[in-house]
Amino acid sequence: MPEFAVPMENIKDYTLAALTEWMTGHGEKPFRARQVFGWLYPRGITGFQEMTNVSKALQAELAAHFHLGGLATASRRQSSDGSVKFAFRLADARQIETVLMPNNTHYTLCVSTQVGCAMGCDFCATARMGLERNLGTGEIVQQAVEAGRALEPGKRIRNIVFMGMGEPLHNYDNLVRALEILQEDNGFGLSARRLTVSTCGLAPAIRRFARDGIRANLAVSLNAVTDAVRTRLMPVNKRWNIAALLDACREVPAGNRYRITFEYVLMEGVTDGLADARQLVRLLHGLKCKVNLIPFNAYPGSPYRAPPPAHVRAFQQILLDRGVLATLRISKGQDIQAACGQLIRGQQAPPPEPMARTG
Ligand code: SAH
Repeated sequence: MPEFAVPMENIKDYTLAALTEWMTGHGEKPFRARQVFGWLYPRGITGFQEMTNVSKALQAELAAHFHLGGLATASRRQSSDGSVKFAFRLADARQIETVLMPNNTHYTLCVSTQVGCAMGCDFCATARMGLERNLGTGEIVQQAVEAGRALEPGKRIRNIVFMGMGEPLHNYDNLVRALEILQEDNGFGLSARRLTVSTCGLAPAIRRFARDGIRANLAVSLNAVTDAVRTRLMPVNKRWNIAALLDACREVPAGNRYRITFEYVLMEGVTDGLADARQLVRLLHGLKCKVNLIPFNAYPGSPYRAPPPAHVRAFQQILLDRGVLATLRISKGQDIQAACGQLIRGQQAPPPEPMARTG
């Protein structure tokens, strides 16, 4: 087949093992793969000729087979709290969103795993897009490369949470490869405890994740304590109800410091009853876990609202008093629609408030 007919591949779809195999298949020494990885991550070269310790011949060969999987930044908005929401344009012109959040000393990046989402949670803005497609491995890791470039020198991304658009476990293979790449010493070198995968509760995929020994934290969006409420909020509950979900969670091996995180979105009058808090304690009995409470983030047209802060604290206190570790997620980037459940294609800034008239 003539060479121009060979479709170019995204080199960032390749794990280190796969790239090593490619190298040996092309008559190169295996260690070249590791060398190339060092240029791809986290440095994020934009041309193969930048790899100064790689021969010109190999540079040319790589350039003939691969592209670097760069993403165009369609927009970039900065929140008053310092977080930044990127909209990235993919090669097929679809868009995804990625959120960079500063903490005191480091950054956490929230990445997308799908364009849209198939899960249909009724409180989540992304669900309204439906599922357009899965992201490739390279498209997932490139979000970290692009966001990393935007940081001041000396700063780096320390945590990556798979909590952007999409259901990560619905794109299992690409997710797992992305996790592997992000952990590679010669790449980002992030340790497993710095990576968190959040799922709406696909029980068989949770079991598979555990069985495969995937090295990452697991967060599970529980969001309700009765099947009636959870089914109304999260259609996935019809397939795997709370009992089935928690059974799968009990099979995740609990290491020394390892705990599953249960995310619980507080929606006033729907999930925030103090009796719900007590029921949550009962449900989680015996599970090595912690609870992350997320007051609902509103978006244009959203049907729910967050309870008042005092009520949120009361809910949290019930968990704490009964020995359940419970943290409160202070949502970042709400003013730029970058918080949990606010990511959606083409989300425009709400129009500015009309100026109040005096007199
Ligand atoms: N699909 C995965 C990854 C998305 S993570 C999952 O469901 O876990 C997004 C988190 O934000 C989930 O815990 C979800 O329950 C929560 N969420 C969705 N919409 C929200 C909203 N409007 N306000 C607050 N949290 C929301």
